Amino acid sequence: MTDGHTTMLTADGRDGTAGPYGSRLLHGWYATGGPAGLDQHLGRYGPPPHPRSAGAADRLVRAVEDAGLTGRGGAAFPTARKLRTVAGGKGTAVVVANGMESEPASRKDETLLDLAPHLVLDGAALAAATVGADVAHLCLPRTRQDQADALREAVAERRRLGLDPVPVEVHELPHHYVSSEETSLVRWLNGGDARPLATPPRPFDKGVGRRPTLIDNVETLAHLALIARYGPGWFRGAGGPDAAGTTLVTLSGALRTPGVYEVPMGLTLGGMLDVAGGADEPLGALLLGGFFGSWLPVGQALRVPFAKPDLASLGAGPGAGVLVALPARACGLAETARVLGYLAAQSARQCGPCRLGLPAVAEDFADLAWGRPDPWSLRRLESRAGLLAGRGACRHPDGASRFAATALRVFADDVLHHLSSGPCAAAGHEPVLPVPGTPAPDEPEWR
Ligand code: SF4
Repeated sequence: MTDGHTTMLTADGRDGTAGPYGSRLLHGWYATGGPAGLDQHLGRYGPPPHPRSAGAADRLVRAVEDAGLTGRGGAAFPTARKLRTVAGGKGTAVVVANGMESEPASRKDETLLDLAPHLVLDGAALAAATVGADVAHLCLPRTRQDQADALREAVAERRRLGLDPVPVEVHELPHHYVSSEETSLVRWLNGGDARPLATPPRPFDKGVGRRPTLIDNVETLAHLALIARYGPGWFRGAGGPDAAGTTLVTLSGALRTPGVYEVPMGLTLGGMLDVAGGADEPLGALLLGGFFGSWLPVGQALRVPFAKPDLASLGAGPGAGVLVALPARACGLAETARVLGYLAAQSARQCGPCRLGLPAVAEDFADLAWGRPDPWSLRRLESRAGLLAGRGACRHPDGASRFAATALRVFADDVLHHLSSGPCAAAGHEPVLPVPGTPAPDEPEWR
């Protein structure tokens, strides 16, 4: 599969038993080279073991807790804690499976939904049975019409077999960067725009229909479906004590075989590059976590495990498993300026930092990358970027601010060069990061 940016998967023979990384979510793909239909899925895993009593639901939550499963959508929040909170909320719960994946450098959720849709649907239905929900919503971006149609067919097939204890509804939402935020999903499902809401109340308390709402990334739910079958000990058979299991990652940039891969948590960043064949030219930096992520210098970062505590020591986090290898001949400042321009256009323009602050930072950064900046404009950029964080209704300004700040740090030598001599030839290098050319959304496009 190709999407114009990356080769999505290479059927290289790795599978659940023979391969070095013991793929689980993508086991079927590696075994057959094709997406798993319902017959294959049930033949491989059997029907999902839905908890049919409060005691069984409690045991499943404990299994998820013992497994150490954390969210694979970006925040890496403990999944069992979310399940327990929503199960204990007031009123009948709702489950939302988040397959929006608005991060342009990520393709892992799209790939998972294409190749193992029934693992995700199992997970959504199991989560619903565990928290006592009467419906599960699967949210996808409107840009993936074919995938939404295929998933509706998959849901109908399951309904005919009576596989799921609750109805599963597939929805197509506007595809903007902030539309994958939890509160955007809730707002849209409640009949409003797919834009973030100021909180509280938080969705786990009063979400869809003002009911307790469990929102989990689709990959998280697929892991839950396997833990329900094989238990926490099996899950912990991959990864490390602080970061258990496997995870899907999207590896791109100057790599021999970029694509979506399943790797054990705790693999070093250098090990992740090796999974994609290694760098195919000298590297200048790594981007971890996508457009809300962090730039990292190559040397030391290669030895750091892909695990929340280890990455925190670099001021970074796992995010949604995006790792981009920036070639040394590209300009990190130009790459950053393009992304900030995109993030400024993609904000919901509801709060001050996004209406005023982010466009100003993007403009300053563009000047730094391609113009004739002076030390005063650099100080203004640093000060404006520092003012963005913690002031919006959602994480959009915070993510953009971190991205800008890490660029100024990691590309400090380039900043000095731009200040003294202006941009070099690298600033005109073909873009490495896949920044969409989509214009800022008009008001009606949020619904
Ligand atoms: S911070 Fe920005 S993206 Fe978030 S709600 Fe406010 S305007 Fe929208």
